[in-house]
Amino acid sequence: MNIKCPWCESENNSSFLKLKDYFLSQEEFEIYECEECKLLFTIPCPPPSEIGNYYKSEDYLSHNEKKKGIVPTIYNFVKGINIKNKYRITTGEKKVSLLDIGCGVGDFLLYAKKNGCKITGIEPNEDARNIAEKKLGNRIHSPEELQNIPNNSFDVITMWHVLEHVENLKEEIFHLQRLLKNNGRLILALPNFKSYDAIIYKDKWAAYDVPRHVNHFSEESIKNIFKRTNLQLIDIKPLKWDSYYISMLSEKYCNHSYGFIRGCINGWKSNIKARKSGQYSSLVYVLKKSDDMTA
Ligand SMILES: [Zn+2]
Repeated sequence: MNIKCPWCESENNSSFLKLKDYFLSQEEFEIYECEECKLLFTIPCPPPSEIGNYYKSEDYLSHNEKKKGIVPTIYNFVKGINIKNKYRITTGEKKVSLLDIGCGVGDFLLYAKKNGCKITGIEPNEDARNIAEKKLGNRIHSPEELQNIPNNSFDVITMWHVLEHVENLKEEIFHLQRLLKNNGRLILALPNFKSYDAIIYKDKWAAYDVPRHVNHFSEESIKNIFKRTNLQLIDIKPLKWDSYYISMLSEKYCNHSYGFIRGCINGWKSNIKARKSGQYSSLVYVLKKSDDMTA
């Protein structure tokens, strides 16, 4: 069977990396690179009926706030700092109508709500959705409800480390284009496999996170993907804390001794190198909707 790129459907693909699900199942996967649009994608991609099994872990941090230990503690500490930074990137401190797709337990939305934004959240995990609803006093939608939301509803749509999990890229991007108001902004935070930490950890780089991550993006593939849409890339910003967290987790997969310290050093190195190259461990892409563009 020929392997097709999930975005451009090209069959001109090559193997990029063989790796395992080091986080949970230890099963083997392969990442392919599309030679046309440069998107990387995970093969095999578990069917929707099975993908839930790969998220069943007490360690899945974004949904687990009470976990103890050094890495979760750092994760939660950094999360607090990150939210402020994310809010500034997202809104420019203005009161906007905001949709957060993959809102998790709702911390970002809570901060936005307290700052006067009109908020809407979408989250696939039912437990996380329930926590978010209690926290926010708003109903949180499941992904299936995305199609019921009217066109031109939002000034800003945020996806913090979410698009790498989305299996049907075409359908998702269709909805993103439709839901934003003209001149509205799409904010995509994504791991960057061209970063220093990705290069040194190779198959053990924690942000490959197969098979939960089905897509793997770079600046080049983001440009190629969105040039055929009414969303135009206008800015790229770093998320500097991610290099530390990802490096520490990668060290765990490598079973290195002194992994925590080594992770800190490599996280720091990654940011230093990225000052010149721009290849931070995670990047935030800011895209603007323009209905005037000829698609
Ligand atoms: Zn492609």
